[in-house]
Amino acid sequence: AEQELIRAQRFESLALLAGGLSHDLRNLLQPLLLAGDTLEDYADDPRLARLGTLVRDCGRRGLEMVSSMLSFARGARRAERVKLGALLDALNLLLQGSVPRTVRMEVDVFDPEVAFEGNHTELQQCLLNLSLNAIQAMPDGGSLRIETELVSLPDDFFVEGEQQVPGRYLRLSVIDTGQGMPPEVLERLFEPFFTTKSGGTGLGLLSCKRIVASHGGLMRVRSTVGEGTQFHLYLPLQALEGDQAESQAMDASLQGE
Ligand code: ADP
Repeated sequence: AEQELIRAQRFESLALLAGGLSHDLRNLLQPLLLAGDTLEDYADDPRLARLGTLVRDCGRRGLEMVSSMLSFARGARRAERVKLGALLDALNLLLQGSVPRTVRMEVDVFDPEVAFEGNHTELQQCLLNLSLNAIQAMPDGGSLRIETELVSLPDDFFVEGEQQVPGRYLRLSVIDTGQGMPPEVLERLFEPFFTTKSGGTGLGLLSCKRIVASHGGLMRVRSTVGEGTQFHLYLPLQALEGDQAESQAMDASLQGE
């Protein structure tokens, strides 16, 4: 428990740091991007125009990193009623431009009307991160499946330190047939800034984990090199149908996370 606490505190200070840094960086990067853009458009000398393109692209890339830092740092969440169908429709829409023709995408929703207490935007961000990772893991094409299911978790499902909340869970799975991960990558998956990509931020999965934890949920990964990867999110459903007392109790326990 003490270890957990230390980890949570480290997490929080990192989030604070990232949040503060992001705001300052954004204020620096926005004028840089504008300057690059202007230089690109108005420079008479082609060399200057190329310099403008470079400055603009760096600025843009920096802003992207800042926004992923911000989404990681954003702590306070608003609880609302999340509808499974709407959540996956939104994800589908967001992914439309990013799924290459070589990747077959399937979304399987067992019941679009299933609703639960949570935060739509955060969960959408999380599923988006996982889906984009999946797509990036399939440079030669493959299939991306998003599956949903109602499950109950056996006692031995939980590992030490995890809060055992009995009852039914909504399982959201993002499954790819990509390159998979070797054990040394799997081990470090949730470390801040851990990435194997040249343009990666290494914050995507950490932010996912944070979002799932703030929903009282759990995350599991399975991966085989050369075969693919499965990310499973388990969200507890006991707050379904708005039992006030129960959901407040859950919120209280989440605050301590
Ligand atoms: P980023 O995507 O910016 O690198 P993430 O935290 O989202 O940061 O992912 C960390 C690392 O985990 C990635 O760099 C990649 O090596 C690995 N990874 C994540 N998802 C997958 C996946 N679906 N298939 C293979 N590797 C993955």
